[in-house]
Amino acid sequence: MIRNNWKKEEIAEIYYRPLLDLIHEAATIHRDNNDYSEVQVSSLISIKTGGCSEDCAYCPQAARYNTGVDVQALMKLDDVVDAAEKAKAGGASRLCMGAAWREVRDNRDFDRVIDMVKGVNEMGMEVCCTLGMLTETQAQKLADAGLYAYNHNLDTSKEYYKEIISTRTYNDRLDTLDNVRKAGISVCCGGIVGLGETHADRIKMLHTLATMPEHPESVPINALVAVVGTPLESNQKVDVWDMVKMIATARILMPKAMVRLSAGRATMSVSDQALCFMAGANSIFTGEKLLTTPNPTFDEDKAMFELLGLTPREAFKEEKELIG
Ligand code: SF4
Repeated sequence: MIRNNWKKEEIAEIYYRPLLDLIHEAATIHRDNNDYSEVQVSSLISIKTGGCSEDCAYCPQAARYNTGVDVQALMKLDDVVDAAEKAKAGGASRLCMGAAWREVRDNRDFDRVIDMVKGVNEMGMEVCCTLGMLTETQAQKLADAGLYAYNHNLDTSKEYYKEIISTRTYNDRLDTLDNVRKAGISVCCGGIVGLGETHADRIKMLHTLATMPEHPESVPINALVAVVGTPLESNQKVDVWDMVKMIATARILMPKAMVRLSAGRATMSVSDQALCFMAGANSIFTGEKLLTTPNPTFDEDKAMFELLGLTPREAFKEEKELIG
């Protein structure tokens, strides 16, 4: 049953269950609601890198931190289409394009992003963008160009958010998510573990996601990749059990969402990742880089899929099933 009326206490009861019980229940719910052998594979490219005016404490692309990231202007349309072809050949059904912007501005860069969306959509791939804050009109323009999904993460709980970002508010995030929903675009929204938040913050973030009027179609669970030069450079590596706990709880709360094992995968063993798939993860990013941080390659993931008996989900499967 899909519920949007979860209480924080109920979520805490799930989150704090003995780990094996939690994994077992999440795996059961996953198998009841999804084809558990299928994993959605996305490829993420940075179409505009670095030089961002925001102060997200985890982000190497913020201009104010000295992280050695090379600032790069918006990519050319042809280069994006080439990257999409490479990603498709590597097994990705979705291309996610990320730009290090505070917000979308109505200028020629946005026009070029619209052309990118059209170009990749015509290749039969699902297109996702993560471009910062978005107005309702901009969201509609992206939808008209064929944008499939928009990523905008909550990062953490409302209470802890201000410790991580001071240049915008939690409500700004929620407003953009509303604009994306109104335009009929699929919502990709999750968070990051390892920012220094408490377990209660994690539970609160999951509560916000699971009580949205419609659950996000895609829920990325990221492990912080602590990058030298950012304020969080000394944060401890996230324990795999914390990731498993978050993924399993998200799966139980949002049975039909794509729960995405996202940043931090590069340092996970195949057995760690297998546990995450068991706990209900059914989406990954593939390709050497995740914006600016390392990620397993297409070939490594292909070998892992073969070992675990997983197959990549085809693009637009939900729509095809509805039509079929
Ligand atoms: S996470 Fe996005 S908005 Fe925040 S600093 Fe990085 S690029 Fe800018």
